[in-house]
Amino acid sequence: MTQKFTPDPALKPTPEFKSDEYVPLKKEVYVKAGEDMSDKGYQEGTLAGAIRMRMRRDNKRFWAGDNISDYLHDSDKEHLITETTLAFEKVLDALLIDRENDPNSKGTAKRLAKMYFNEIMAGRYEQAPDATAFPNDSADRYEGMLVVRSELRSMCSHHHQPVSGVAYIGIIAAEKLIGLSKYTRIAQWCARRGTLQEELCNDIAREISKATESENVAVYVQAVHGCCENRGIMAHSSLTQTTVLKGAFKEDQGTKKEFFDNIKMQQEFAPR
Ligand SMILES: [Zn+2]
Repeated sequence: MTQKFTPDPALKPTPEFKSDEYVPLKKEVYVKAGEDMSDKGYQEGTLAGAIRMRMRRDNKRFWAGDNISDYLHDSDKEHLITETTLAFEKVLDALLIDRENDPNSKGTAKRLAKMYFNEIMAGRYEQAPDATAFPNDSADRYEGMLVVRSELRSMCSHHHQPVSGVAYIGIIAAEKLIGLSKYTRIAQWCARRGTLQEELCNDIAREISKATESENVAVYVQAVHGCCENRGIMAHSSLTQTTVLKGAFKEDQGTKKEFFDNIKMQQEFAPR
């Protein structure tokens, strides 16, 4: 037996609408002057769209963990925050949150946009911290190991949940030394993006190696992940550890042991 279908009166189409008529879209499409459109057709006139197009044209990767500061002018950030605010307003609307009347949700779209650009993803949009190097080439130069503990705040690319922890950065001093705070500044610049802990560990090792010109670099990161604590497995005491070893740290067992012994001493001195 088939049931007779009765349309919901609330969902009835308006009487003037006829399904066989084409309804022209009123949406205006802007094209930024001076851009080469030949390969991608039209581009909507957002600044983010224009920047994305330039990166695609140059085969520049712009994943959540990549730094794209070379593609931004100083004045772009404010404009991008405005565009992102409008986009977050749409997200809040889709979540059915009354951002007009709920006093706590009124400025949320703007707050989110500013927080992404200026804080939790700042390491994508800012140039690398200036790490002035001092020569380490005199007769009594420092040749030992240096281990610096850096506090990290990051965000996972998968869920945009907070990641917090510490990185232990070890190097064997080369011809150049950088200020102690620079290790942490570089680590935080790498962390303030959408990351995977494994990639973050690699990124810190690469950037420290670049700034110090030392091939002997080790990075150990331990962190807790909001995406394991606040959702999914809800594991509030889970801890993830990753290690990247390069040069002597990888090849020489004594150097590797000294690095991990140093970490243990640091942890005894100031448990995290
Ligand atoms: Zn996650």
